[in-house]
Amino acid sequence: MSATLPKAEGLHPDSLLAHAGGGFDQATGAVVPPIQMATTFVRDEDYEPVSPGHVYSRDDNLLYQKTEGLIAALEGGSESRLFASGMAAVAAVARIVKPGGTLLVQSNIYWGTTLFLRKLCARNKVALIEADAADLQAFTEELSITKPDLVWLEVPSNPFLKVADIKSIAQQCSQAGAVLAVDATAATPLILKPLDLGADLVMHSATKALNGHSDLLGGVVTTKDAASESWTLISEERKLAGAVLGSFETWLLLRGLRTLSLRVERMNKNAMAVADFLATHPRIEAVLYPGLKSHPQHDLAKSQMQSGFGSLLSLQVKGGREAALSVAGALDLFQRATSLGGTESLVEHRFTIEGQGSGIPENLLRLSVGIEHANDLISDLDQALAAL
Ligand code: PLP
Repeated sequence: MSATLPKAEGLHPDSLLAHAGGGFDQATGAVVPPIQMATTFVRDEDYEPVSPGHVYSRDDNLLYQKTEGLIAALEGGSESRLFASGMAAVAAVARIVKPGGTLLVQSNIYWGTTLFLRKLCARNKVALIEADAADLQAFTEELSITKPDLVWLEVPSNPFLKVADIKSIAQQCSQAGAVLAVDATAATPLILKPLDLGADLVMHSATKALNGHSDLLGGVVTTKDAASESWTLISEERKLAGAVLGSFETWLLLRGLRTLSLRVERMNKNAMAVADFLATHPRIEAVLYPGLKSHPQHDLAKSQMQSGFGSLLSLQVKGGREAALSVAGALDLFQRATSLGGTESLVEHRFTIEGQGSGIPENLLRLSVGIEHANDLISDLDQALAAL
């Protein structure tokens, strides 16, 4: 009896994803891989591992390799590494900057990243510069003056949905000898491929749309060049600092990835419909979504993003904090919870989380648009706004 695995090469990402990167389990023919729970693996009488690559589960395992291979293929990268959370992945990348070095980070990005980088850099004597990457001229000037070791972008940014010009910034980084890393969590690799635009590293919180079911924490970093110094450091960090993803979580992530393209397709469509509805609503002050023509970087977003603009958007409600909180409180279908990229739509008042001094407007609500029917999402927003 013999059967062959589907060949990954030449397959459309949708097909790769549907098969979770390829084929059945060779040992049993099972169409989904088994969950390997063992932490340690035996050696033979000559002290060679019985199965090459299987020594201790902090180092590596087949499920990591399968999931990492699939994500690397989606990103157009050469290797990926899974981490225990998005923040563990952020930390592994940030730690490539040695004491005395410089890190240039886009301002007003995911609060957890900003907070972590501020604390890490202060502790490790790394100069941290925060600058608005949507202002290309100012950002690249900053880059050429400060000559950072690492540049960190988030595209599109959370929760302001700003869009940085990755290609131009990548060119400047390569002239300045800086490593460019892009957090593309809010876009997914189906919409944005930073490595194709010249970035060295791309990172995702796999907690979000990659898994898509709000039931695991995970992170992933992918490199263009597996022989680079930065990748050696990041791989060492995963193995030696040990922020590895659990076997069950890796299995869940691989299962979630099977439906990524369907979910992204629906979420894109829903988010665009919701943004269009809100953009003309009399009680809305502003809608922040790169898919809208009114977005200041709409043309750039269109040129960088494929097949849609993602599922994250923010709105500012007329009437300030009270009005925003009362809209959030009146929503039925949108759940009041943090996070993004899940099948269920969520609403969040970011100011409550980040507080004074964070720069978040008090009337801002962030929406993560899920896979429900667009009409139900719009009706829910309509009734909540009508109750103002
Ligand atoms: N990057 C972005 C853009 C995020 O939105 C988040 C979490 O919300 C993270 C990174 C951190 O990911 P995690 O919560 O998986 O640690």
